[in-house]
Amino acid sequence: MNAITAVKGFKDILPEEAYHWQQVEQLIRGVLADFCFKEIHVPILEKTELFAKGIGDTTDIVEKEMYTFRDRGEDSLTLRPEATASVLRAYIEHSMFNQGSVTKLFSIGPMFRRERPQKGRYRQFHQIDVEVLGSEEPQTDAELILMLVHLFRTVGLENLSLDINSLGCPACRSGFRQKLIDFMQDTLTSLCEDCQRRLTNNPLRVFDCKNDACRRLIQDAPTIPDFICDGCRWHFDEVKACLDMFALPYNLNPRMVRGLDYYTRTTFEITIPHMGAQNAVVGGGRYDGLIRDLGGPDIPGIGFAIGFERLMSLLHDRQDDPPPPVLFIAALGSEAQAAAFKLCNQLRLEGIRVEMDYSGKSLKSQMKKADKSGSLYTLILGEREIQAGEGELRDMRSSKQWAVPLESLRSHIAQ
Ligand code: AMP
Repeated sequence: MNAITAVKGFKDILPEEAYHWQQVEQLIRGVLADFCFKEIHVPILEKTELFAKGIGDTTDIVEKEMYTFRDRGEDSLTLRPEATASVLRAYIEHSMFNQGSVTKLFSIGPMFRRERPQKGRYRQFHQIDVEVLGSEEPQTDAELILMLVHLFRTVGLENLSLDINSLGCPACRSGFRQKLIDFMQDTLTSLCEDCQRRLTNNPLRVFDCKNDACRRLIQDAPTIPDFICDGCRWHFDEVKACLDMFALPYNLNPRMVRGLDYYTRTTFEITIPHMGAQNAVVGGGRYDGLIRDLGGPDIPGIGFAIGFERLMSLLHDRQDDPPPPVLFIAALGSEAQAAAFKLCNQLRLEGIRVEMDYSGKSLKSQMKKADKSGSLYTLILGEREIQAGEGELRDMRSSKQWAVPLESLRSHIAQ
């Protein structure tokens, strides 16, 4: 019988890799704590209407990529394709806006999109999602971008390319929308089928199209920064001035609209130069109308999502391995095995990394296992040693070996 394999596009994170993830996650958590963000856990399953409303039903994600099913013939449910909508739902549902004027949240976990699996693109992938709710000040946008760059530097990525843009507010966007439709009308038949349809539903989406012909056409299209109103221009200028205070280099990219419907004003993306523009490691932006659109109060928000797999793929050659056991216990004979079992688990309860083998195989075989485990010390216990209340301790690096009373073992292996 063939063994059952994982679902296409879904990937196991094996122990070595999981350890690297944990290390990077810890560094990221440290930075988030310094910037006063608090963690929130939200479910991975939500009512489908949340994403239709919260992401926009003309987006690629909602149109083509969601894992949606009827829950035993009842509600339509969807595995979350991103976390912002869920975090905002929770924010509204628990009236978190009553707890303070600005709420800074982060959430880490799996997302699900039924995209074509390819290198760096999975159907289950992980994001670190960060949201600031309740502040429209440009300092908040700058704080978030500054934190993001700092976060990347903290995990060891220096060579970043930061793109920023302003998408304006709904008022300044409507003039732009019409100009874009007029421009596209002349070239309508050269656009891909999706973009022809997008032109009536959501013309901005054309900027996100991956089709080469559409990308060429869009090079000459009007861009949003030429249309933004005074308020939005002031806001964006302030964001840039705050970034300049930290000498943070950025590219102004007037064609970056980001894939989701809800963005307003500041948007940003980080790519790593050799990864190509379609492979951002992180993307984010402001979404001032979204909380209201989801049935909450009219509160502004801004956030970003880092793709964890993509981040890890950039770090793969600079990581440590999981720490080996401090001690391996090799025991010969049933009495010594029983004493070793007790000692091994007692030391673990005291917080010392210890490993042993319960199979009762030969000393040679156990020493091989000790060697393979990479343990710093091996304790050899035989019947005679147990009677004498001691063991033979071997320093695996120097191969020196000496007898130690078991009660002073801890001081010999102390790190
Ligand atoms: P988005 O939510 O589409 O703005 O994506 C934010 C980040 O998540 C991207 O910059 C990628 O790093 C990551 N990401 C998005 N889709 C996938 C995917 N299918 N597989 C792996 N990472 C992804």
